[in-house]
Amino acid sequence: MLADQDRIFTNLYGHHDWRLKSARMRGDWDGTGEILARGRDAIIDEMKKSGLRGRGGAGFPTGLKWSFMPKQSDGRPAYLVVNADEGEPGTCKDRDMMRHDPHKLIEGCLVAGFAMNAVAAYIYIRGEFHDEADVLEAAIDEAYEAGLVGRNACGSGYDFDVYVHRGAGAYICGEETALIQSLEGHKGQPRLKPPFPANVGVWGCPTTVNNVESIAVAPTILRRGAEWFAGLGRPNNTGTKVFCISGCVNQPCNVEEEMGIPLRELIEKHAGGVIGGWDNLQAVIPGGASVPLLPKATCDEILMDFDSLREVKSGLGTAAVIVMDKSVDVVRAIARLSKFYKHESCGQCTPCREGTGWMWRVMERLVRGEAELSEIDTLLEVTYQVEGHTICALGDAAAWPIQGLVRHFRPELERRIKERYAPQAAE
Ligand code: SF4
Repeated sequence: MLADQDRIFTNLYGHHDWRLKSARMRGDWDGTGEILARGRDAIIDEMKKSGLRGRGGAGFPTGLKWSFMPKQSDGRPAYLVVNADEGEPGTCKDRDMMRHDPHKLIEGCLVAGFAMNAVAAYIYIRGEFHDEADVLEAAIDEAYEAGLVGRNACGSGYDFDVYVHRGAGAYICGEETALIQSLEGHKGQPRLKPPFPANVGVWGCPTTVNNVESIAVAPTILRRGAEWFAGLGRPNNTGTKVFCISGCVNQPCNVEEEMGIPLRELIEKHAGGVIGGWDNLQAVIPGGASVPLLPKATCDEILMDFDSLREVKSGLGTAAVIVMDKSVDVVRAIARLSKFYKHESCGQCTPCREGTGWMWRVMERLVRGEAELSEIDTLLEVTYQVEGHTICALGDAAAWPIQGLVRHFRPELERRIKERYAPQAAE
């Protein structure tokens, strides 16, 4: 279990005031000018050594991502964009960080923006997060007034602005190129890559898009050192992570823990255990709605990190742990996710636009047991046709939960068809 002195988010639950004075007492903005004085290359090297991998879901090494930004300006300004469009079902960590610890994010914007020679940070926040956007804007005002951002930020001679941009409620705007489109004032639809944002991002300028948590942990890593962060967790899966635990547990919560903590320990120590006890567990979606679910047998031993979950054909994703006990109709739960992806598809590429609707309709029939047995394999085949054949990862996200369901719960699907089992009729 993570020791208290190793926690980065010391106000995750809002027990303290979020304002600057209180944030400073918790260590934020301590020696930020000295961090900047180390220079851009030193900051990026330290971040690389820490092993931090992106906390938004993809797990790409953060320091490496920063290093992709052009070292010399070609006349275009560079930008940092913070992805605060947290919309992945089951995920609610960034919201609490912004609500209770906004100065960690603002300080992170400054050090990250400085490291990549950006002139400004845009925090693109989910439209529904009204209160969090208000808190962020007030905290940014405090930082300007204290000379921490703006002209000569922290006395460094470096000018850096921070803006909040409110989204309008589209899940797809959490995809980095759709977010950039939306920030520019266009319809939020993903762009083809390449070109990658580091070359052609916001308004055609070099841009790095990072998740809230990835940016908010950076100042602490730079203060305490890469070795400290890399000493937590497991090799290639270092540091701490904020997990969101929801579903059939006694105390749903957000909690910061070491990467690689056993799933069972995470649920039992922090979320009060599975309702009815561990033996009542049926399945867990370990990383937000976009990753395949795992049956109980796998959950008994699995470690919560990128590599361990990949080995069992799932993923850490956003680290949103959705727990389903034996009372849950797991087929209906996945069908509900299929409906979500159908609804959120931006519609610009055919496999996703047509495939998500097709998969949802078959899933609905499978819930009712009205499909043919052969349709299970047809459905699986369609998921493979969607996966990897779309502009953005929403197609994969729609395909993977179904693949996980068929992989682990095929007998349940077949039983429904054989018995023409109809849960609605029994209700
Ligand atoms: Fe839009 Fe779906 Fe294509 Fe992504 S995969 S660009 S959401 S249609």
